[in-house]
Amino acid sequence: MADIYTLGIDVGSTTSKCVILKNGSEIIASALIPAGTGTSGPGRALATALEQAGLSNEQLTAVTATGYGRNTYEGADFLVSELSAHALGAAALMPGVRTVIDIGGQDAKVLHINVDGKLESFLMNDKCAAGTGRFLEVMARVLEKDVTELAEMDAEATGTVNISSTCTVFAESEVISQLAKNVNLNDLVAGIHASVAVRTAGLTRRLGVTPPVGMTGGVARNAGVVRALEKELNTSITVSPLAQLAGAYGAALYGWNKRKENE
Ligand code: ADP
Repeated sequence: MADIYTLGIDVGSTTSKCVILKNGSEIIASALIPAGTGTSGPGRALATALEQAGLSNEQLTAVTATGYGRNTYEGADFLVSELSAHALGAAALMPGVRTVIDIGGQDAKVLHINVDGKLESFLMNDKCAAGTGRFLEVMARVLEKDVTELAEMDAEATGTVNISSTCTVFAESEVISQLAKNVNLNDLVAGIHASVAVRTAGLTRRLGVTPPVGMTGGVARNAGVVRALEKELNTSITVSPLAQLAGAYGAALYGWNKRKENE
């Protein structure tokens, strides 16, 4: 039987992600372009993944779009909500996980899923930048660092500089005034991560912490945030190396499932 290829594209607020699945199980290509909805990012992610897989668009059986910008993405056969895509992707990447914490570029979500990756309940913060990737990006800019450097700095911290404001704008002023006091930068980063963790732990507890807990989304790549969140929730958190691709992976799986339904 001929191989079946399904592609999932996650058109995010800051990043475009693509995953190509062969026969619903094997990831044969993936792409991550740091440009999100309304930019060339989605097109570049698609082209990169196709090139990596050595496939043309016509060889794809189903293209499924998810993410913040999915509705404006042209060329999708199916659309799936970010919640359903992350639930499917998380269950495939981290089998058995029941609580999924997804922190992306501009929102944070907590999902309860069953073992098949079906969404059971969720809570979301999409009203405020605090506790999202955006908060970390703002703080990194003030520190003249890149978000990718924050985890390493946190690992070197010997203490934590407390950030008391929950609002991003006020927290930014607080970080600037701490910088003026010449505090240790690593300890300041640890404080920034603790602030994200407190916020996320609040959202998670409101839904309920059903173990095992896993994390998806770009912020899961920041080991400092993961560690701070583990401490705050007093539980271990599983993170897949493909955490940021969970939505795209889930979308590719959704396309595979749809195709099977239509057989
Ligand atoms: P979206 O889908 O909304 O575009 P993502 O799930 O891709 O968001 O997450 C983007 C966020 O992930 C960024 O704001 C940043 O904080 C974080 N991030 C992305 N890459 C890394 C990395 N290599 N190390 C640490 N954090 C990262």
